[in-house]
Amino acid sequence: MSDKKNKEYMDELRHSCAHLLAAAVLELYPEAKPTIGPPIEDGFYYDFDFEKESISKDDLEQIENKMRELLKDWDSFEHREVSAEEAREYFEDNDYKLELIDEIEQDDEKITFYTSGNFTDLCRGGHVESPNEEIGALKLEKVAGAYWRGDEDKEMLTRIYGTCFNTKGELEEYLEWKQEAKHRDHKKLGTELDLFMFSDNIGSGFPIFTPKGNIVRQEILKYCREINDKCGFNEVHTPNLNKKQLFETSGHTEKFEDGMFEVHSNFGEDKYFLKPMNCPQHTQIFDRKLRSYRDLPIRYSDFANLYRDEKPGELSGLTRVSCFSQDDGHIFCKQEHIKQEYNQTLDAIEEVLSTFDLEYEVVLSLWDPENKDDYLGEDSLWKEAQQQLRELLEDKDIEYKEEAGEAAFYGPKMDFIVTDALKREWDISTIQIDLNLPRRFELEYVDEDGNRKTPIMIHRAMVGSLERFIGILIEHYGGKFPVWLSPTQVHFIPVSSENHIKGTKKIAT
Ligand SMILES: [Zn+2]
Ligand SMILES: [Zn+2]
Repeated sequence: MSDKKNKEYMDELRHSCAHLLAAAVLELYPEAKPTIGPPIEDGFYYDFDFEKESISKDDLEQIENKMRELLKDWDSFEHREVSAEEAREYFEDNDYKLELIDEIEQDDEKITFYTSGNFTDLCRGGHVESPNEEIGALKLEKVAGAYWRGDEDKEMLTRIYGTCFNTKGELEEYLEWKQEAKHRDHKKLGTELDLFMFSDNIGSGFPIFTPKGNIVRQEILKYCREINDKCGFNEVHTPNLNKKQLFETSGHTEKFEDGMFEVHSNFGEDKYFLKPMNCPQHTQIFDRKLRSYRDLPIRYSDFANLYRDEKPGELSGLTRVSCFSQDDGHIFCKQEHIKQEYNQTLDAIEEVLSTFDLEYEVVLSLWDPENKDDYLGEDSLWKEAQQQLRELLEDKDIEYKEEAGEAAFYGPKMDFIVTDALKREWDISTIQIDLNLPRRFELEYVDEDGNRKTPIMIHRAMVGSLERFIGILIEHYGGKFPVWLSPTQVHFIPVSSENHIKGTKKIAT
């Protein structure tokens, strides 16, 4: 089964189990009002209004047992389309379902009921065929509060989380994995190893690397710089603030304004933004003088801080932050350089990922030939660039997956999906061709034939966000960094306090 298919199936299995949870809760707490129960990553939840009753983790076992008991009779999901009237009558005591019914009616969609055993729910569908044969193992994991519709002005509901699998073996494996992931959680280990911190006075989402953490960070930077040197990059140093005008030309204000922090000067009317990426600035460095074809390729690297105004609820440790820096690189080149530059960058990325013992899969994101209008640049340019990338991967005997329609509107890209020690996947390294930005900034070079032409820009990152990469590495290594990265290289431990302390101090200095 393909990963995508598998994910779809697991979502159906887990959503079916959410129905089962609601059925069991209603058997045990007939006054409870079920609301919604979607599948989520690794499981499912269902939100209930228990009214006066309060539910805790201690009640989960009883609910679980009831689920297992009911499951025996759940051999299918019967589906039936109903009128809004009928639906309202059925759920007359449940204001939450009534609200959902109103919405479905307003959207002019079909109202459907799904029944398994004695339990009927308002649902759009997405279930397995035979729940009692397919749900082989289930587990309720925790209870939490959740606002109806995620809106803090609305009712506080009780959310019960759970998961399920086809077999007991799979559930056990998952629970072990979860335990291991908990041990390795970079938020926990990062504090224990004293690597990084957050401060309410500084702001959530703004990580601070402490002296030890900064050693890890600097070692990674040093390593990236070595690789950049080998690839002919020149490092630049750039300011964090930029005039709004820069991002208007780049198109960021149009597409990304909500994601940027805005800053005002006390002098003058200019609006500024903290930069979410380095690319627009690098076009200005390229453009500071007239370029000849002989100057190309020109490669700039940059480790400047970048800022993104993330929703507070979406921030998470080092893996989702508002301030980070990338091992960013931009290559300005001619079309005939694409293969050579990709070749060199591919080698560099392979070297970096293997240094950190990370396995990866290459995904080549191409345009959708049926919708050429969605993409910028001439057909021939796209076709040739995509062909060059394919050939390169084949020449180098690298296995890859092609995804049509996944290219950015400005060019095809190659992404490296990394698998860490916990078998989780991360998008880390990327190489992207950009036919758009050089045009927006009217970049030019004088070609061999004397004509002025637009260069191609390639965006490249090997480890991506350093913050996120360090978060991933802490979990990947379980806090046990390889010696070259380890902030504490050697510990001297005196055997007895009287005789050895002096000697130990001597060796240590
Ligand atoms: Zn359903
Ligand atoms: Zn870029």
